[in-house]
Amino acid sequence: MLGAARECNWAGSHLPRPRPSPASVGELATALNARGVALHNLASLPHISVAGSIATATHGSGATNGNLATAVAGLEIVTSSGELVTVSRGDPDFDGLVVGLGALGAVTRVTLDVEPAYEVRQRVFEGLGWLALYEHFDEIVSSGDSVSVFTRWGQAIDQVWVKSRVTGAPEEPRRELFGATAATAERHPIPGLDPASSTPQLGAPGLWSDRLPHFRIGFTPSTGEEIQSEYLVPRAKAVAAIEAVRGLARTIRPLLLVGEIRAIAADRLWMSPQYGQDTIGIHFTWKREHDAVSRALGELEAALAPFDARPHWGKLFIAEADAIAPLYERLPDFRSLVERYDPRGAFRNAWLEHRMLGSL
Ligand SMILES: Cc1cc2nc3c(=O)[nH]c(=O)nc-3n(C[C@H](O)[C@H](O)[C@H](O)COP(=O)(O)OP(=O)(O)OC[C@H]3O[C@@H](n4cnc5c(N)ncnc54)[C@H](O)[C@@H]3O)c2cc1C
Repeated sequence: MLGAARECNWAGSHLPRPRPSPASVGELATALNARGVALHNLASLPHISVAGSIATATHGSGATNGNLATAVAGLEIVTSSGELVTVSRGDPDFDGLVVGLGALGAVTRVTLDVEPAYEVRQRVFEGLGWLALYEHFDEIVSSGDSVSVFTRWGQAIDQVWVKSRVTGAPEEPRRELFGATAATAERHPIPGLDPASSTPQLGAPGLWSDRLPHFRIGFTPSTGEEIQSEYLVPRAKAVAAIEAVRGLARTIRPLLLVGEIRAIAADRLWMSPQYGQDTIGIHFTWKREHDAVSRALGELEAALAPFDARPHWGKLFIAEADAIAPLYERLPDFRSLVERYDPRGAFRNAWLEHRMLGSL
């Protein structure tokens, strides 16, 4: 595993560059806030590394929000021959280099798109019916700038977290969301857990970096003891895919802490699970029971195969390279890029060969 990029520039700002790199997304957000600028979106926690998030196409939520890698405007990579390669958006190969999974070289500098800092408020709705989700799917995932549907795959959906950018207009809080009622106290995404580690809710406005993640920096994210998996399906197939997962509820529920359904916008990054299509992420936070979870993933992947589900690169999945290959039309180009950037295979490992590259 590689360390984070050493330096970070911010496109769209007047700042001198380069600047020393913050290692984690939370540290980056703090540095950006000090300069009054923001990223377009964040993942559910600020603890993860900037370079790792980009390399694995880590995403937040929002029907019109691309994953975090889509904010990359430029990259500097040291290849295994020691060559320093600098690329910018629009250059040949750029779209293949960003979500690089560490296979191409060590990213030593990134340039990110930023925008003026903004505020966000979030509200939680509880007890959404499955039928309501199916009938109003597009309206629900578009009911805020970032929407997360939390479920343990039971009779109803536990919570819907709706995060909206604060505008000049006064908020008109909804009392309900297609039958789900607005929470009147703060919540943890896993029902019953102490919400102290969760970001503030109940419509209180706050900085983008204090509302877009579900978990506060400085606190243990999620439960701290877990395994994660996620499958990204084309948005047009979302309801059918969700229904297929519901069919496995008896397998899933005993192993699950919580699940999350989110929308992510399409992009052009070759190895991004959002390549060429708006997607819905169906995420699972599992108990730390590796063997049982792996068996459940076998059933899940079989159930989701008809929906062309692409696994999240940074979470646990069991599909091998030959099953992954048909899901990524630019994979042959990515393999050529790997051969060109790392002909001696210094950055290759067993995971890359089994899960993505096959035997080059
Ligand atoms: C509690 C929790 C919540 C999460 N929530 C989300 C979420 O909301 N959305 C989501 O999409 N994912 C989420 N994830 C998963 C997350 O995307 C992965 O953990 C991911 O790997 C990125 O973060 P990392 O700090 O683990 O990266 P790292 O482990 O540092 O890196 C991951 C990989 O990226 C590559 N890499 C890292 N640094 C470099 C570099 N300098 N140059 C080249 N390659 C590099 C390497 O291949 C490395 O193995 C969550 C994970 C946890 C534990």
